[in-house]
Amino acid sequence: RAKAAGRNGYRFFAPEMSVEAKTRMKLELSLRHALERRELSLHYQPRIDLKTMSIVGMEALARWHHPELGDVPPMQFIPIAEENGLIETIGHWVLEEACTQAQRLLGKFGRQLRISVNLSARQLKSRSIVEQVRGVLDRTGIPPQLLELELTESALIDDIAHSAGVLKQLKCLGIQLAVDDFGTGYSGLAYLRRFPLDVLKLDRSFVMHQDEDENSSEFIKAFVDMAHALKMAVVAEGVETAETLQFLRNASCDEAQGYFLARPLTLEAFEAYLSRLPAAQRHAG
Ligand code: C2E
Ligand code: MG
Ligand code: MG
Ligand code: MG
Repeated sequence: RAKAAGRNGYRFFAPEMSVEAKTRMKLELSLRHALERRELSLHYQPRIDLKTMSIVGMEALARWHHPELGDVPPMQFIPIAEENGLIETIGHWVLEEACTQAQRLLGKFGRQLRISVNLSARQLKSRSIVEQVRGVLDRTGIPPQLLELELTESALIDDIAHSAGVLKQLKCLGIQLAVDDFGTGYSGLAYLRRFPLDVLKLDRSFVMHQDEDENSSEFIKAFVDMAHALKMAVVAEGVETAETLQFLRNASCDEAQGYFLARPLTLEAFEAYLSRLPAAQRHAG
């Protein structure tokens, strides 16, 4: 059989391929059509102010429902999209969709919620990224200060001079900039001073283990103080327990996300969540 296949020239699934490699190839092939087949959607995770305990925004998180394989986690498909370049199309769609929905929610609930969108390393390198963001702001009419872009530490330090230039241009649009997953890389805050960042998001690996690990607690306290010294707000992701929430409040962390507060929700569930909030919280912004 292998010989016959060889004569035909081309064969997708070589028998020696591992199961993982086959799955990856299958994902890669079907990801090309995922957008046009409307298999992608966004979930929204509430972000909570730790002083007032009211919602101040939400993070848009991409979801892919594959017709055969079911839900494919972003940790699996985002790296594939990053590698084959699809992230530019998918990322543009995420930005447009998130801002469109956010603008609609602002109108419906009369509340100033900030929408956070993840930007991949490759998008940051794309020549059209500043124009893309400007276009989305124009088309959706979302106030620039309510859009926040999240960039990982590794994406930023990959090409520092270039990243700094792009971030400066993005900042000129009036949007907010956040460094995501902070603490997982090796850059440290010294590097970050070169970028016009407004927000530091503590990686969930620290936050999740805060209540069982002394070191994580010490890191968090140090990061909060340093970030504040650099005039950045601090957001903790991955808050899973009441203890961690209390710890973060005591440590003067500004905002938080996590399963203990709210899971990422479908657009419908997110709207229901907003409707259930006491009016005082809903209109406090
Ligand atoms: P991230 O940007 O750091 O997003 C936070 C992740 O933590 C989300 O995972 C969220 O569901 C999860 N999370 C929130 N609260 C908790 C908690 O209390 N405990 C735990 N264990 N996890 C929590 P998700 O949605 O699976 O996304 C994973 C990553 O995929 C994101 O990490 C982000 O790096 C990437 N990603 C997701 N959507 C997009 C997108 O539209 N564009 C790009 N470039 N990357 C995306
Ligand atoms: Mg993020
Ligand atoms: Mg994060
Ligand atoms: Mg993270």
